[in-house]
Amino acid sequence: VIHLEEIRKSYFIGSNELPVLKGINMDIFKNEYVALMGPSGSGKSTLMNMLGALDTPTSGKYILNGHDVSQMEDDDLARVRNKEIGFVFQQFNLMPRLTAYENVAVPLIYAGIGKKEREEKAIYMLEKVGLGQRYKHKPNELSGGQCQRVAIARALVNDPSLILADEPTGNLDTKTSVEIMEIFGQIHASGNTVVLVTHEEDIAAHARRIVRLRDGLIESDKSVEDSLLVKA
Ligand code: ATP
Ligand code: MG
Repeated sequence: VIHLEEIRKSYFIGSNELPVLKGINMDIFKNEYVALMGPSGSGKSTLMNMLGALDTPTSGKYILNGHDVSQMEDDDLARVRNKEIGFVFQQFNLMPRLTAYENVAVPLIYAGIGKKEREEKAIYMLEKVGLGQRYKHKPNELSGGQCQRVAIARALVNDPSLILADEPTGNLDTKTSVEIMEIFGQIHASGNTVVLVTHEEDIAAHARRIVRLRDGLIESDKSVEDSLLVKA
């Protein structure tokens, strides 16, 4: 699904170059469940934004489902984003004036789907994440965990093959985090490819493969079974 070759990314602040990703090589195959870990500032969000076609690398190659995303212009990036990727953020990023189901339906507007079908699909997705009763509530009338469920429903509504989540439980208490991780488990079990960033080993343990970044490079890349063997 994902092929990354010598991915480098620098931010430019005035004439100063800040290299953040320094040559990332990685493949992620269909239906993998990957946790991306590493210290603050190691480049996790930068890499996720690139995987999510929210940003392009300074150099290197990113192939997603056969499309060379690293060469794309904005319009094409937006199309790939809407069709192939669902993105979940730490701060939920919901539209405050829209109800839960209107938020979930936003990607369907871009996909050109009619109003009635949008409504049905959005409510169906909210039921799937356990929020069927609250589809008319606005984000400020929902708890953090409920907002994250809305955001997950929105990420899934276009049936993308790749689900990316940048610290999806970062703003949630432990109990709610476990519930949200159960939803990601179901998403993975239903055949999606899942990549999520987390600081917490307990959360990462839900994944099957753990990739650790350090200072813009991959420090280690292990399947969870391997890491358990190392401990034993
Ligand atoms: P955290 O765990 O704190 O979320 P992270 O691993 O996600 O950290 P990034 O957000 O990828 O780290 O940031 C990596 C480096 O790039 C940091 O030094 C950060 O200050 C810098 N950086 C990130 N985004 C930008 C930007 N838009 N412009 C300039 N510098 C940036
Ligand atoms: Mg980050």
